[in-house]
Amino acid sequence: MSLLIENVAIAPVAGPEVGSGYIRIDGDRITELGAGPAPDVPGAGRIDGTGCLATPGLVNTHHHLYQWASQGLAQDATLFEWLVALYQVWAAMDAEVVKGAASAGLGWLALSGCTTSSDHHYIFPKGRGDLFAAGIEAAREIGIRFHPARGSMDRGESQGGLPPDSVVEELDDILAATAEAVDAYHDPSFSSMLRVVVAPCSPFSASAELMTESAALARAKGVRLHTHLAETLDEDEHCLAQFGLRPVDYMEKLGWLGPDVWFAHTVHLSDADIGKLAATGTGSAHCPSSNGRLGAGIARVSEMLRHGANVGLGVDGSASSELTPLAGEMRQTLLFQRARYGPDALTARQALELATLGGARNLGRENEIGTLEPGKLADVALWRVDGPFTAAVADPVCALVFGPPPPLARVLVGGRIVVEDGELKTVSQDAAGRAGVEAGRRLLRLAEERGVHAVKEVHHG
Ligand SMILES: [Zn+2]
Repeated sequence: MSLLIENVAIAPVAGPEVGSGYIRIDGDRITELGAGPAPDVPGAGRIDGTGCLATPGLVNTHHHLYQWASQGLAQDATLFEWLVALYQVWAAMDAEVVKGAASAGLGWLALSGCTTSSDHHYIFPKGRGDLFAAGIEAAREIGIRFHPARGSMDRGESQGGLPPDSVVEELDDILAATAEAVDAYHDPSFSSMLRVVVAPCSPFSASAELMTESAALARAKGVRLHTHLAETLDEDEHCLAQFGLRPVDYMEKLGWLGPDVWFAHTVHLSDADIGKLAATGTGSAHCPSSNGRLGAGIARVSEMLRHGANVGLGVDGSASSELTPLAGEMRQTLLFQRARYGPDALTARQALELATLGGARNLGRENEIGTLEPGKLADVALWRVDGPFTAAVADPVCALVFGPPPPLARVLVGGRIVVEDGELKTVSQDAAGRAGVEAGRRLLRLAEERGVHAVKEVHHG
């Protein structure tokens, strides 16, 4: 089956931009693109892209989908205060909460141009159903590529960690469950819709042994590694006090720098840290809205790029970024970098590259997604930039990045239409949204049953 998108402006991220041209899709791949009228392909489906900008589908490289069910809590807290307040709420979640939260969260992502998302899930209360499978089920229904990270915590309060002992797991249980998740779900193929990641939660909630054993497991299985790192100054202090090393040096000691690793946040980096990330090919997921919400700081993104370190974008969990659209993170990144470094810190095109190719590199998929090129998967976002207000901007990439996210005419994943005219096509949009609301109510109710009065206790952090 062939599909032609015609009369469309194209920002392919790799190669020259096209003012008005076409993209040809055969099966799940892009086979041709260029300027001018589309070729005559008998029997091909056609999408008129007049007034639209085609970009690669956006790639989200850090999220905690379950957090959709706990938005708006601990509103004025630091990261550590926020975590301590919320761990007890999250401890009550079950597979039904995760399914509903993931349906809403992934639907929301697709509606902001996302075609591939990771999800870092790290709390697995016992006897509450298969939480890992619940997220996967939601992703299959929505139809975007999914890189679920089997997260973990084994360093509770009694071991000097931050989380209460009640939400951590035993090392052996974690390693067995993680191996099982990889064996059950990981698909390494080019067109893969699902790849599993190994992801102990953070230096302040995972033991050194869990970090090193996880790295060994991931490398034996040929999957990628992810964790939170250098998010706040509190973490810096914690690492110095507990391990005698700052976060990046600690990761280096544990064998956690390399081209198969990407970290979430990396806000507080020294020059030497940036050099180490660049030299080892270690990626970062920049989550500016979450960093802003929690007052964590502004990452040195433009310096990281200048030194050759890879950066992708992430919305982070909805409990710390609320309703952040992934497309909006391009603008947030641009504004943060310019506020910190001046107007030449980051261009609109660099911001678009972070959200696409940068993300694809974090996930190890730069040969398959992240740019519009013949041979790559047909993951495409078609932004409507001819609206009554956005049409005033002559440069469509500027309209996309400098302003609020424009409406989406289409989102295609492997050539399949997931969003059409701003509506989810694979599932009922209303049902996905309602599932998120229900998940929130259910989580608060389950927490109440355990004596945790979430709204009252953690509202003000
Ligand atoms: Zn996070």
